[in-house]
Amino acid sequence: MVALTIACSPGREAFHFDEMTYSPNETVFRLFAPADADCYVQLGDDSLHMQLDNDSIWTVTAFGDQKGKTYEFVVNGVASPGVFAKAVTVNGQKAVVVDMRDSDPKGWESDTPVRRPAQDIVIYEMHHRDFSVARPDAKYPGKFLALTEPWAIDHLKTLGVNAVHILPSYDYGSVDETRLDEPQYNWGYDPVNYNVPEGGYSTDPTNPLCRIREFKQMVQALHKAGIAVILDVVYNHTYDIEHSNFQRTYPDYYYRIIQNTQTIQNTQNTQNTQKKYSNGSGCGNETASEKPMMRRFMVESVKYWVNEYHIDGFRFDLMGCHDIETMNTIRRELDAIDPTLFIYGEGWSAGECALPSEQLATKANVSQLPRIAAFSDELRDALRGPFSDDTKMGWLGLSSTSGCDADLGALKESIKFGIVGGIAHPQVDQSLVNYSKEAWAKEPTQMISYVSCHDDMCLVDRLKASVSGITDDVLIRLDLLAQTAVFTSQGVPFMLAGEELLRTKQGVHNSFESPDSINQIDWANKERYPEVFDYYSRLIALRKNHPAFRLASADLVRKHLEFLEAPDGVVAFRLKDHAGGDSWDNIIVILNACATEQTITVPQGSYTVVCHDGHIDEMGLKTFTAGSFAVAPFSASILRD
Ligand code: CA
Repeated sequence: MVALTIACSPGREAFHFDEMTYSPNETVFRLFAPADADCYVQLGDDSLHMQLDNDSIWTVTAFGDQKGKTYEFVVNGVASPGVFAKAVTVNGQKAVVVDMRDSDPKGWESDTPVRRPAQDIVIYEMHHRDFSVARPDAKYPGKFLALTEPWAIDHLKTLGVNAVHILPSYDYGSVDETRLDEPQYNWGYDPVNYNVPEGGYSTDPTNPLCRIREFKQMVQALHKAGIAVILDVVYNHTYDIEHSNFQRTYPDYYYRIIQNTQTIQNTQNTQNTQKKYSNGSGCGNETASEKPMMRRFMVESVKYWVNEYHIDGFRFDLMGCHDIETMNTIRRELDAIDPTLFIYGEGWSAGECALPSEQLATKANVSQLPRIAAFSDELRDALRGPFSDDTKMGWLGLSSTSGCDADLGALKESIKFGIVGGIAHPQVDQSLVNYSKEAWAKEPTQMISYVSCHDDMCLVDRLKASVSGITDDVLIRLDLLAQTAVFTSQGVPFMLAGEELLRTKQGVHNSFESPDSINQIDWANKERYPEVFDYYSRLIALRKNHPAFRLASADLVRKHLEFLEAPDGVVAFRLKDHAGGDSWDNIIVILNACATEQTITVPQGSYTVVCHDGHIDEMGLKTFTAGSFAVAPFSASILRD
């Protein structure tokens, strides 16, 4: 039996996008929608007219136990699950009244989040389907639950990464959840319901609680293994405007609109205003984070994922579309929960945003975004060549074809900028750095250090595309060298899943909807190239065992990190004087991108070589006393005394 009443609602000020509040006695519905609209809730077979409170907040209470019923908000005849559904039917079409406690897996109340200081995080970026769909012994290929399986946990733990960054895992639209028996693939950058897990990754998308419970089981298993869970969040755009839940509940509120006013030359001399949506996202629309309720939505959404799903951090897609104030508000409100919740994002947009550039959360403005990090395309592109041209070489490729005589000065300076973690350093000539003529990070933990990620070629493919005639031996050498630069950098290291198994996407750059045959990880490579996995895992262990590689502040980096004289195809630096309290007094890292052996003069000392010619052993591979040290072609050496 459903009865209506005007709920005692607090108005917009205290509205927390609590669109559905369930209790066994009553369910309260609230919606942010235009004050002059006609709003009702379609709850099962009942239509409940909503009452306008002040400030565009509409409410209605349904008495009695409504659990399990579907509902939609209908605004001026247009139905949607609202913008903050917590549970949905298949394909996210309708929202469902649930008691979230019913979705908790066994032991959920004792699940402990995994949160570390930013400098200690090692990020592994993965797509659910890529990771497990081709794993022969996976019980749940392509599902959330794959990450609860022993083979998966064992792989991640042996590799040593301590944070998994999962590509969009909220409900997105490009995979039809009603025909999951057919192979379907998408990265998922087309959000439908921002606050519900994607049904395509669950074992039963028709059961509203299933995707929620299985997502939590995944988080629980990773947390038990000491691995943090970072969510890729895409608040900057929706798949389209017309069908988005934002537009269906409050037309045009959530988007940035450019008004084009044209005077039409006719007899009336009419003013014709043509509405145009700004396209800073490159997807046809961009949301308006600066508007109070869009900002509120983003804040409430990340807090909901933290509180309900125990998420440990967020990667903001096209963070450069959002405004600085919103990102700082998110930082502040997450701090109130746990200051070690990690936030980073793409410090750029995909087009021009309809907001002044000085207000945008771009890489150039990271100094105004304390404890928020951005990806360094300086280091990435210096190592492997620019995003815009897959065949163009970076420092790795250039050295291999032209010996060490090419003009590699600028590339080398960009790599040095990455090594220091994007901060100002007296030995980095910023005027030579590829994209940033000013150091943009205030602290090294504000820079994400990487050489490849999902929306690009894998490292292997890139090396093949840019270094003509590359042999398998050189390919592996350059691959390991590139990652040595990343993992000895003072930025927060980040790797694409599968790189440790020499992953290939068969040369496809933008594989967002490519079939499994392109995107899947080939697990047979683990046996095929055991030396590669071994090097990656030892490299990550080296970083984790030695605080010198992860100094927490810019001042410490400037104090302890110095670059050594080296030829252009070589970058060499020293972490000196027990940097960061390291048990090792001095550590020397030499990165040689040349096809020939190179020698550099190392300061006086009695050294143990812990990395050389494609091998890592912290106990020591050989010893060395001062003088000229020879570093093998296309490889890194690391010495300590
Ligand atoms: Ca979906």
